[in-house]
Amino acid sequence: MSDEARSSTDELDRIRQEPGFCRYPTSHMAVVEWDADTGWSGPTVEPYGASPMDPRTLGLHYGLAVFEGLKAFRGQDGSVSLFRPDDHGHRLGRSAERLAMAEMPADLFTQACARLVATVEHWVPGGYGQSLYIRPLLLATEAELGLRPSRNYRCVFLAYPADPCFGAGFRPLAVTTATEEVRAVRGGTGESKCAGNYAASLYTRTRAQAAGYDEVLWLDGLERRWVEELSTMNVFLVWRDEHGTRLTTPPCEGTIVRGLTRDSLLTLAGDIGLPVTEEHTEIDAVREGIRSGRLTEMFACGTAGVVIAVGRLGTGGEDMTIGDGDEGPVTGRLRGSLLDVQQGRTPDKHGWLFRVTGAAATTTHTDESGGRHT
Ligand SMILES: *Cc1c(COP(=O)(O)O)cnc(C)c1O
Repeated sequence: MSDEARSSTDELDRIRQEPGFCRYPTSHMAVVEWDADTGWSGPTVEPYGASPMDPRTLGLHYGLAVFEGLKAFRGQDGSVSLFRPDDHGHRLGRSAERLAMAEMPADLFTQACARLVATVEHWVPGGYGQSLYIRPLLLATEAELGLRPSRNYRCVFLAYPADPCFGAGFRPLAVTTATEEVRAVRGGTGESKCAGNYAASLYTRTRAQAAGYDEVLWLDGLERRWVEELSTMNVFLVWRDEHGTRLTTPPCEGTIVRGLTRDSLLTLAGDIGLPVTEEHTEIDAVREGIRSGRLTEMFACGTAGVVIAVGRLGTGGEDMTIGDGDEGPVTGRLRGSLLDVQQGRTPDKHGWLFRVTGAAATTTHTDESGGRHT
């Protein structure tokens, strides 16, 4: 092996040990394109890099951009699998549909993710909770200033070796409700993973962070009374009474993103025998539950952050500690169950893993310099 190849291998080892979140893009990206005349083409896998963009690009002017976030995990045998790629592909299609954008078929989406992962397989870390985070972005790319559906789209699939986004230590979050702004209203784009939703929430999130919180707990846009979700994660509440422990999470009725982590946890909670219902909860009931001790835990969940406790809630001028402020047992147990499936420590009963590469000992790949490793 040349010195250069060795130093890049050492560098990659270092990145894989401590990847952080979205700090180091992989050497390659996948690209899928759509043209009104010729339809879908690709995927191609290309070296990571910028491509020139016409200043008229439709997507930039009108926010015609939707994205996904999914992960590939290294299993116990060294193989690498995507977690629920078809479901992420379908959701990208629904997000696109809401913005009158081209709907990529889910199998093309999965194929692009799989080709990319196979190419950058050696970037996939294998530590507890670690993954390769994949960010597909579908953008309307026609150079045209008129407000109408684009005749061209480009979807780039980026990949990053990743720890969970709030850190591998899963320190509980502090969240606060917004008093002025809202994130979504029924009939709007709240359910779509579109760029505009994040633009709409960033101002409030930034102010929350300046006030010492990690995130915003959004309330419904009409009455500002019902708990919805965080800016990038769904929420669950854990209640305890004389009948035992039960979980609730707000229903998906168009204003929150249909999280696949949320959906997986609904299933896993059922497997464990924890009763869980999708129901609306008033912020006042949350406050009352924290005070009386009946609300024992709150946690947030999403692909990037996995499952993370909410230890503190600022709302209505009060700053409240949930439980003792540390992670509770239900939160820890559900995160463990999810990561065990994702990282192959327990059987994949629900068919969520899509295997991309075989066991490490039998895998070969081509690195950036064209050499082959085994
Ligand atoms: C992506 C996202 C989620 C979580 O979805 P997952 O599929 O679990 O990653 C929740 N809320 C919002 C606003 C999101 O953007």
